[in-house]
Order: sequence, then structure tokens, then C-alpha cells
Amino acid sequence: MAESKHFIHEIIDEELKEGGRCYGKTVHTRFPPEPNGYLHIGHAKALEIDFGTAELYGGMCNLRMDDTNPTKEDEEYVEAIKEDIHWLGHDWGDRFFYASDYFEKMYGFAVELIKKGLAYVCELTPEQMKDMRGDINTPATSPYRDRPIEESLELFAKMRAGEIEDGKMTLRAKIDLASGNFNMRDPVIYRINRLPHHRTGTEWCIYPMYDFAHPIEDALEGITHSLCSLEFENHRPLYDWVVNNISVETKPRQIEFARLGITHTVLSKRKLRNLVENGLVSGWDDPRMPTLCGLRRRGYTPQSIRDFHERNGVSKVNSVVEYAFLEYCLREDLNKTAKRAMAVINPVKLIIDNYPEGQSESFTVENNPERPEDGTREVTFTRELWIDRDDFMEEPAKKYFRLFPGNEVRLKSAYVIKCTGCDKDADGNITAVHAEYDVDSRGGNTADGRKIKATIHWVDSATAVDAEIRLYDRLFTIEAPDLADVNYLDYINPDSLTVVTGAKVEASLADTKPEERFQFLRVGYFCADNKDSKPGHLVFNRAVSLKDSYKPQA
Ligand code: ATP
Ligand code: MG
Repeated sequence: MAESKHFIHEIIDEELKEGGRCYGKTVHTRFPPEPNGYLHIGHAKALEIDFGTAELYGGMCNLRMDDTNPTKEDEEYVEAIKEDIHWLGHDWGDRFFYASDYFEKMYGFAVELIKKGLAYVCELTPEQMKDMRGDINTPATSPYRDRPIEESLELFAKMRAGEIEDGKMTLRAKIDLASGNFNMRDPVIYRINRLPHHRTGTEWCIYPMYDFAHPIEDALEGITHSLCSLEFENHRPLYDWVVNNISVETKPRQIEFARLGITHTVLSKRKLRNLVENGLVSGWDDPRMPTLCGLRRRGYTPQSIRDFHERNGVSKVNSVVEYAFLEYCLREDLNKTAKRAMAVINPVKLIIDNYPEGQSESFTVENNPERPEDGTREVTFTRELWIDRDDFMEEPAKKYFRLFPGNEVRLKSAYVIKCTGCDKDADGNITAVHAEYDVDSRGGNTADGRKIKATIHWVDSATAVDAEIRLYDRLFTIEAPDLADVNYLDYINPDSLTVVTGAKVEASLADTKPEERFQFLRVGYFCADNKDSKPGHLVFNRAVSLKDSYKPQA
């Protein structure tokens, strides 16, 4: 699906015109995740922009693992990232790359800069460098800045050869110690780090910094537009400096867009990893997580996530979107696509005393009234059914129109019944509800046209299947757990998961496949858990409730 046009596309349109920077060229973007965690809904925004832009212009989008920092990077994440992107519906063809594959070339470009007098080996410790950074009125300083080129070349080679201790030397770009942009004050472009790397092992003990590596990766892959989030805006001068001072053919252009924030959740791999490592959730794919695999397991569809990003648009202004809007997008999609079924979460027996024992019949019901092409199915009906406890009150509250002694309700798609009473155990708990059915109301309409106010759902007890139902609520109790000064771990919602066992679902669900999604009539949208649900032990996650007062702004 192509994104709708936004400011980035307006820029690209201009550049593609005759005389423009990209006239006659193919638009080429990339999505560059760091494989140090699973993708979340914020990454999905970047993905939609990167892949969506390529699709819109008939261009290409590379998938590149930005693995230049050996800390916490892992092959497990690489596979998960690929799977999540495919699930969302994007594909990179044969354009899958690792930034670490360019280490040798990056080293070569660093040597080129040294030779041009544009980089030098500096021996300031990180603390000293911080102390000598200067301020807005005072330039930074380094006593190593004017070291001879030959000496820097020699020392840089020693850094690479492992002859220098971690932290003792860095390679710095020689740009402008007085720049108002501190990123330009001779930034470090290589540091020594003896951590083994997930792909190159111990081959390297020096690693390029992001600001140096990223423009090189983009240039080497022929990227025309390097789209990234707003926090890189101040780094753009350095990005341009790098591509302009090394020998590469393509000069990619960086364009920044606003990051996505969502209420009631955190969007940072570090924070999400903490939740996993502290056992506060069951894993990266816990259905309460804002990760793509968590949302998927919860019941989100790729379409609902794409709609969410499409409707939020792309701008230069950071904003926080309501979690309820994400849910709204899911509800809209599932209303169109999810099959309907009957499930009773909190069951109590309903006995229809005038229905002959041993008799059974079935009703043909639509799978989805929004989509007749989804066909119909048969649901069986016998003398004993399951209904929800909430659908009966011995002494009705005001405006309660469902089952109470003497009242009539419609059993969805079946018959009209009249409640006659209930059974109770010694403690006064209701153990069964009794009713009589109107023989002439098959299908749900009364022969004499009398009005029936309420319709309730039910499941035939003769064929019902047991299920475990997982009811999810927000993971955090406050609206903004992601703010910098908030300890999000203090605001975990203790009631974010309620497990219900012994729910009763209609027989047609017995063979439900993992990730099949349903609207359980009157209850909500549910998805068969992709890890724990199997025939014989069905587990359904509540993806989203049926209704919410939330209305998106026009
Ligand atoms: P995190 O803070 O979650 O670790 P990151 O930016 O460090 O995120 P990367 O793997 O480097 O994670 O991100 C890959 C791409 O996704 C980058 O281009 C980044 O700008 C983008 N991205 C990450 N988070 C968001 C977000 N919340 N909204 C939009 N884009 C995002
Ligand atoms: Mg990053």
C-alpha cells in the first residue's frame, strides 16, 4: 500500500523534476533497524515511510541491519525483525544488508579522511573530552588536533591491530571546534571496544560511530533518501560532511520526520527489554507489548497498523497519539473482516424446560453480516445451553431487560424464551436458570409480532468447547509512562491480564487456528493465541473490546 503524500513526498517530487537532484533517478530508501530488540509500533511508522515511499515512486527499499555497535546485538533479533516486516506486508527482495559488512570500507574511508588532514587520533579520555568540549561561547580544544598525518595513520593502524587499550584513543573528524552545533566539534568517528560482535566476532576491536557509519552505509547502497526520525536533525550537517568528504558516488539526502509516541505505553527498545528481563511481561511478544509481535499475538492485523500510521500522517512535529486511536483502527478493520462466533466467558446453565430432552436442531447463521461472501455455519441447539451469568438477574435492576423471572428475551438466531426462575446451591449461588421457549418463534421472531427488547448469545452445552480467555487491559496505569522523568516500572497495571478458564465457545471453534480472529457476539474481538492455543486447549486473547466512547478527530 502506498502512503498518501506528505512533506517528504513533496520534497521528492521537486527533486525528481528536470534539473532536480534526482532527475531521472530511481527513488531508493532503506529501513535501518539496530538488531538489539524487537520492532515496535514506532518502528512501524518508519517502516511505512521507508517502504511506502519506495512503493509510491516505483523505487526500492533496502533492509539493513545497523549493527555497528557490538553491544547487545544479536542474531535472534535479526530473524524477528525480518519476520515482523514481512508480516506487515513489506519486502526488500534481495536487498538485505548488514552494516557490519562495510567495516573494511569504513576503515578505508577513515584512512582517506586522515590522509586528507580531515581526521586525527586523539588521546583524550572520554572525561577529558567532555571537559574540553567548551560551551556556546568557548570552542572545544584538543592538544592532539594538529598531530602529523603520518602519526595519526600509524596510531589508527595500531588501534585496529589491538595494540591500544579500550578508551585510550579515538579517531576524530577534524571539522570545527567552535561550531554552534556540538556534533560538529570534531566528533569521535571511531572508538576502541573489545566486545565481540554478533557477526564479525573478534575480527575488529575498533568500531565506527553511528554518525560516521550511517552516511557511508547509505552512500554505498546508493540510497537517494535517508529518512529518519527528528532526533537526527542536528546530526544532518555531520551526515553531509561525511558524504561530501569521502570518495563515494552517491550523495544521499537525509530528511527527518517526527517520531511516533502513544499514550499508556513506552516506545523504546531499552525500556521494552527491561520489561522482558524483569519478568513484568511474558516476553517481547506478550500481547500487552507495543511490539509488532506482541500486537500480532494480541490480534492486531497488518491492515489496522498501516491504517493507524496512514491516518496519523507524517510531519515534522512530534506528537503523542492516543492508544485508543490504535484500538479504534483495529476495531474498524475487525468489524469488516472478523468472523462472528458465540462464546460465553462466564457461563451459567440455561435449561429450557419445555424443550424435549434428547432433541437437537441447528440454525444456519451468517459468519459475517458485513461480508456475506464469508458464508454461513450451523450452530446446534438443545435443551441445555450456556449463557453468560450477567444475562440473568433474579431481581432485575432498573432498565435491565435481559433474563429475570417472567421476562422474555431472544436467544440470538434461535428462539424467544421466557424466564421461569433459577436453581441455587446451599450458599445461594445460582447454579442454573430456567426458561420455556416459544415454539413458534424459530429464527427469533414472535408469531404475533410482540416486541422482544433484548437478544442474548448462548452456546449449546451438548457441543460446546472449553476455552481459556485472556482479557487484557493497558500495561501502564498512567497516560505518559514514557516521559524522561517518569520511572515507567513503577506504573505497571497489576490488572492488565485476567485469565478466565472454563469459558464455553461454540463447536465451530474447535479447530481454530492460531491467529484466527473473531468477533465474539456482544463480547469483543478475540484472537487465538499463536503460542498456546491448539485444538483441545483453545486460548483466545481479547484484542479489543467491541465499543469505546473514543471518536477520532475529524
Ligand atoms: P529505540 O529507541 O526503540 O531503540 P531506535 O531509534 O534506537 O529506537 P532503531 O533500530 O535505530 O531504533 O530504529 C530504526 C528506525 O526506526 C530509525 O530510522 C528510527 O528513527 C525509527 N524509529 C524508532 N522509533 C521510532 C518512533 N517512535 N517513531 C518513528 N520512527 C521511529
Ligand atoms: Mg537507533
